[in-house]
Order: sequence, then C-alpha cells, then structure tokens
Amino acid sequence: MSDFYIKTGTTSVPTERGYYGAFGGRFVPETIVPALEELTTEYAQAMADPAFHAELAHLQQTYTGRPTPVTFARRLTEQLGGAKIYLKREDLAHTGAHKINNALGQALLAKRMGRHRVIAETGAGQHGVASATAAALLGLECHVYMGSVDMARQQPNVFRMKLMGAEVIPVESGSKTLKDAINEAMRDWVTNVRTTFYLLGSALGPHPYPMMVRDFQSVIGVEARAQMLALAGQLPDVCIACVGGGSNAIGLFHAFRNDDSVDLIGVEAGGSGIDSGKHAARFADLNISRPGVLHGTRSYVMQDDDGQVRETHSISAGLDYPSIGPEHAYLRSLERAYYTSATDDEALAAFRTLSEMEGIIPALETAHAVAEVIKRAPTMSRDSVLLVNLSGRGDKDLDTVIKILGDRL
Ligand SMILES: *Cc1c(COP(=O)(O)O)cnc(C)c1O
Repeated sequence: MSDFYIKTGTTSVPTERGYYGAFGGRFVPETIVPALEELTTEYAQAMADPAFHAELAHLQQTYTGRPTPVTFARRLTEQLGGAKIYLKREDLAHTGAHKINNALGQALLAKRMGRHRVIAETGAGQHGVASATAAALLGLECHVYMGSVDMARQQPNVFRMKLMGAEVIPVESGSKTLKDAINEAMRDWVTNVRTTFYLLGSALGPHPYPMMVRDFQSVIGVEARAQMLALAGQLPDVCIACVGGGSNAIGLFHAFRNDDSVDLIGVEAGGSGIDSGKHAARFADLNISRPGVLHGTRSYVMQDDDGQVRETHSISAGLDYPSIGPEHAYLRSLERAYYTSATDDEALAAFRTLSEMEGIIPALETAHAVAEVIKRAPTMSRDSVLLVNLSGRGDKDLDTVIKILGDRL
C-alpha cells in the first residue's frame, strides 16, 4: 500500500549514556553534567514508583481531561475516498495542545525533587504557557525566558503566562528569539542548579530529556492504540504526526514501535518549498542539513558549510526549529519511521479543509500532518485505516491566518 519499506524497530534505546544509535548523548558544559546525572537518577526512581504514576494519572484525568478522544473523520474520509481517517484529539487537552502532558510530568518530578523554582524557554509561547500552567497547578515558582522579538509577536501568550503567575524574562541577546532564550535558560540553570528545575519543552536537549519527554508524551500513543482497537477494530495501517522538536510525534509513535504492520510518518515544515531553502525540513535536503550538535544533543541540524546554524522558515512557529529530536534521526536511520514535509500553502489548505469538513480548527503545526493525510489517504484502499495526531487547536493561529486569508474567506 505504501511506497516505502519499514524494518522492525529495536527498542532498547536510548543507551545508558543517552544514545539512540549515532544520535543523542549529552553535549553540555561540565558544570551541568552532575545536574543531568541527578535528574536521570531521580527520573528513574520516579518511574519505578507507583505513587508517582498514580499522581500523574490522577492529574491527567481530573485536570488535563485525559484520555483525549479519538474521532472518526467521516466527511473527510468520504471526500478523500480512500483510507478511513481517525483523529487523536490532543487539541482537546487542557490549554489546547499536547505540550501540557510533558509540562505536568516534569513539574511533578521537580516537586518530587524538592525544587520549587522551574525555568523554561519558549519561542511562540506555547511551551511557556504549558509550563506556567503546570507551575500554577503545583504551586511552583516559574520563570520563562523569551526573546523580546518573540514577546512582541506573541503578546496573548505572554499575557497568559503572567496571568498564571509566571515571570516572563525578555532576552535581548542575539536575534532575540528562541535560540537566544535557550542560551539564557541554560545559563540560569548552571547558576541555580541546586534550587532550579529546567523544564524542557520537546524531545530534545541533553540526556535524559529526549527520553523523559518521550515517556511523558507516550500517553498519546498508549491511549490511541487501545482506542483504535476498540473503535476501528484494528490497529491503524499508518500513523501520521507533525514534527517540530518531535515530542507529539514520538508520543504517538512510541506505543506502535513494535507493531510492524503500522507505518510511522513524521511531517516536517516545508515552508516556501524545499527547493527555496526556506523551510525547517531537517531530513528533506541533506545538502543543508546534516548530523551535528545543537542545544546539547546530536541530531540532524540545518547548517551551512562552516557549521553555522541556518535560518529556518515555517508558517507555524512550533515547527520552526533547525534541529530535530535525536530519536527521530534514529528511527529514520532504521527506516522504522519515514519523514516527509508539507509546505506553508499545503498546511494552510489543510487548515481550511479540516475546519470545513469536520468542524475542527487545527493548529498550523497540526495542519502539516493533516496535509499529509490529504495527500496519502486517497492512495490507500477503503478498508485501510489512518490515524493522525491532532497535536493542538488553531485558536492561537487565527491572527496569522486572518492576515493571509482574511479577504479570501
Ligand atoms: C509545539 C507544538 C508542536 C511541535 O512540537 P513537537 O515537540 O514537535 O510536538 C506541534 N503542534 C502543536 C500544537 C504545538 O504547540
């Protein structure tokens, strides 16, 4: 049914030192290593403690609203005329996206470790909002680093964070955007490592973060797998998710890793098109993206010949990052997962289609996954089943879309 072949995955990843094949690891200043080691140990203890799982599950049910449903997209399925399309509804989680799954897990771990101060960095503000939310719920002090350019662009999210009691710290260095905010957050962590927990937002960074974020997000796939068996009477033939840092995708994929019949497809930001060079598709053009180290982990990084990180472009801020979680690089190297991209225009079209056909306005990030559904479903037989992760809702993107589509609607 599909035009590619997928091998069985191996599952003993990461290694003790945080490697996923040739990717991952811990590329950080000496001063942070003891903190990462302590975090790794504390995390392992928490995961072995039924009380930790019980508390997290309780909050997921009574606060986040889990399990999120799976919805059969009847009209979209009929229109596309191929595979039956099912939607995993992370857009219905509290705060409107999957990011809360991870923020809640890490905040609970911070509390368990006796850290009353959490720091986070944010680009578009979505991870900042999730962190501020979890911190408010658990009574933790929360400081969010954000580039001043991003703060100006994302004022509603800045206001949300402040409303929930977080301090938003403007970063004026460099390009005053996400990568500068990450540098500042790292600096804070080095200085205050005894009192502070660094709440990282995607399946990125030095070990154990990619593993920890994956585990906290894997609730998506665990639920979806059982829901598909109950609702569709079978596992999906294909799972699709958008990939920024890679947390919602790995959260969906993880539960299906040993199901050889299930194809896993990640969708990167194709921006203005791969040929234009203006995109964030780390796997699409290996002339401008190759293995390298960024923000503490080894993975694919978009870079020039001198190793300088390249500017990226996407209509969706959440996919606009020059690297990708190391486990995705690993799954791709195994050919256990396959990666493709959708352009800004394709994502916008998908944004409209899902809104019109199903009454669900997706986030622009999510719309990239939906764009792949629109391409792929018609090529599949009518008795096949496709599951797409709706990582978030689109309310946050209305301003962006109004500027582009306003007159045409
Ligand atoms: C942040 C975000 C993403 C991208 O992040 P991942 O870590 O790749 O999941 C995707 N969708 C939504 C709605 C987001 O807010």
